[in-house]
Amino acid sequence: MTRYSLALLPGDGIGVEVMDAALAVLDTLERRLGATYFLRRPYPGGAQCYADTGSALPAETMSALKNADVILFGAMGLPHIRYPDGTEIAPQLDIRMELELYAGVRPIRALPGLASPLSDPRAADIDFVLVREQTEGLFYARGRAVVTHDDVLDTMRISRAGTTRVADFALALGSRRQLRGKPGRVTCVDKANVFTSMAFFREVFVERAALVTEVRADCAYVDATALNLVLKPWTFDVLVTENMFGDILSDLAAALIGGMGMAPSGDIGDEHALFQPAHGSAPDIVGTGRANPTAMLLSIVMMLDWLAERDRSSPLADAAALLDGAIASALAQREIVPFEFGGTSGTREITAAVISALQTAG
Ligand code: ATP
Repeated sequence: MTRYSLALLPGDGIGVEVMDAALAVLDTLERRLGATYFLRRPYPGGAQCYADTGSALPAETMSALKNADVILFGAMGLPHIRYPDGTEIAPQLDIRMELELYAGVRPIRALPGLASPLSDPRAADIDFVLVREQTEGLFYARGRAVVTHDDVLDTMRISRAGTTRVADFALALGSRRQLRGKPGRVTCVDKANVFTSMAFFREVFVERAALVTEVRADCAYVDATALNLVLKPWTFDVLVTENMFGDILSDLAAALIGGMGMAPSGDIGDEHALFQPAHGSAPDIVGTGRANPTAMLLSIVMMLDWLAERDRSSPLADAAALLDGAIASALAQREIVPFEFGGTSGTREITAAVISALQTAG
C-alpha cells in the first residue's frame, strides 16, 4: 500500500479548529478501512507565525511542502496582523505561486437535507465547479504595485501559457464530468468586451476548447455571470475564470449552498496539490465552536479523489466515496443544522456526526 506524506498547515483562526476536526475524521476513516494512507506532519505558517517569528512561511515549511505528496491547509491571515504596507498576511498566495498551483478548483454542490438560501426548488440541483486561475491575473500585481504619491498602478497579467493550462484543466474536468452524467459544459467567464487582456483570455480559451470536441464550450461576461449565479445557478457545470473574478465569484457561489463552511477547494498544479476549505480564518467566530468543518472535510474527499485519479487507486476512490457519503448522511440528519443555516450544530457536533456516520456506514 502506498503511504503518502501529508503536510498539514493549520494556520490561523478557525483554520486550526477545522484542521483538528479533519484529523479526527481522517483517523476514523483510516481505522474503518484498516489502512494508514497518510503520514501526517504539521508545519508552522500564517499571520500568528509572522507575528511570533517575523516569517509567515518559514523556509523549512516551504521546503517540506515541496517534498510532500500532498498538502492539507486550514486558513491563514488575521486582520490585526499586517505587513507594513497594510496588506494582510496571505502565505497561501505565495504557496500558489511557488508551487504553481494554477487551478483553484471550487466545487459547489447542494447537499440534501439543508435549507437553501434560494427559494427556487431547483436550488437542490446546484452542482457546478468554479475553476479559478491562480498564478496571474490581477493577483500578479501583488508585491508589484507602482506607487506614486497620487497614483497606484496594479497590473493584470494574462499569458498564453497561463491561460492555456487552466483552460485545458477546466476542459478536461468538463470531459470527466460528462462521463459521470453531467452536462460537460465549460463556460469561460471574462470581461472580453472591455479589456484587451480579457479578450485574449477568451481567445485562448476558445482555441483550446476547439480541441476538445466532446465538451460544449461557451463564454459569458463576469457581471452577467454574477447575476445568473443567483438567478439560475443549477444551469452551470464548469466555469473557468481569471484570478480576481474567481476570488469574488467563489464567495458568491459558496453563499448559494449555505455559506463558506460548505465550500471545499483544491489548489492544483502539475506537480503539487493543496486542499483547503474555501473560507478564511473567520476571526469573528474563532473560539466560539461555531465553525462548520464541512468545507474542510469535503476538501479531504477532494484530496482522496485527486490521489485516486492520479495513481489510479480504487481503494482511495472508495475511501473518498465513503467519506463523501458519511458527510452527506451526517448533514441530512434533522438534528444536525450548522450555525450558518440558523441551527446550533458547531464544529464538535458536526464532526461527531460525520465520525459516527463513518463508523456505521454499510
Ligand atoms: P479570506 O479573504 O481570508 O478568504 P474572508 O474575508 O473571505 O477570508 P472568511 O474568513 O472566509 O472571510 O469569513 C467570511 C464569513 O464567513 C465570516 O462571517 C465567517 O464567520 C464565515 N465563515 C467562514 N468560514 C466559516 C465556517 N467554516 N463556518 C461558519 N462560518 C464561516
